[in-house]
Amino acid sequence: MTLGADTRRPLHGRHAVITGGGRGIGAAIALELARLGADLTLMGRTREALESVATQVRTTCAVRACARFVDVTDETTVRGAFEAATDALGPALLLVNNAGIAGSAPFKRMDLEHWRHMLDVNATGTFLCTRQVIDGMTAAGWGRVVNVASVAALRGYAYIAAYAASKHAVLGLTRSLALELARTGITVNAVCPGYTQTDMVERAVENIVSKTGRSEADARAELTRTNPQARLIQPEEVAATVGWLCLPTSASITGQAISIAGGEV
Ligand code: NDP
Repeated sequence: MTLGADTRRPLHGRHAVITGGGRGIGAAIALELARLGADLTLMGRTREALESVATQVRTTCAVRACARFVDVTDETTVRGAFEAATDALGPALLLVNNAGIAGSAPFKRMDLEHWRHMLDVNATGTFLCTRQVIDGMTAAGWGRVVNVASVAALRGYAYIAAYAASKHAVLGLTRSLALELARTGITVNAVCPGYTQTDMVERAVENIVSKTGRSEADARAELTRTNPQARLIQPEEVAATVGWLCLPTSASITGQAISIAGGEV
């Protein structure tokens, strides 16, 4: 059968790597791409979480799925994990760079360690993983790279200068690489969610409560207020957009930053 010829499973037979696939937005993306028929490699640092999502997609979507330990900032483990993933499931024709961290600090109190850590995980991690898949995608004449950026890739926000800088870097990489690869059959796009209901937002709420002494309800309301629809985005909404960008029919969409933020930007 031709790759993806089954219209209900248009990614059938294609291998997708998702970083940070063990929870939150990454786990929702794993379920969506498996529903579309892709075989999955889930990468991250928490083995049990990755194994649990891999088992879930194998059972519910009848696809192949493996978990691989990776710290996306470590070039050697990244290379090793992609080599092992290719040996197991063939070259990755889809890559979702989702692994990321968030953190806040007033600029005057921001130290170099905070700045470097944000840039390392969010921007350099995206660079290191993307480098591992381009040759295989080029040889196949087909590929999809989707970077999970943020609304903070599109505009600034007070107290998150390092996070916003790292996500702006992801978007710069996305737009430039899309042009560089425009004639290869590979598309490179970014999705830019607003505050999304995951552990990351729960940590942000805890942080506001501990730093300001405000109630949890107040802290949550402050985050929700940034969205004109006055709600948190659900991980499945981000996953559906990633799934759409990965479809064979999305071949002309490249170099884009798709915001999923209720009209915030
Ligand atoms: P979570 O904190 O729930 O998940 C983050 C994921 O990234 C985890 O699976 C984690 O896995 C992985 N990760 C973190 N650091 C590393 C590392 N060094 N190496 C490998 N994996 C790593 O957050 P979300 O699901 O909310 O975030 C996913 C992405 O979405 C991030 O890039 C984030 O910036 C972005 N985003 C999130 C928004 C939100 O409001 N939630 C809004 C906009 C963008 P493990 O710890 O096991 O390694």
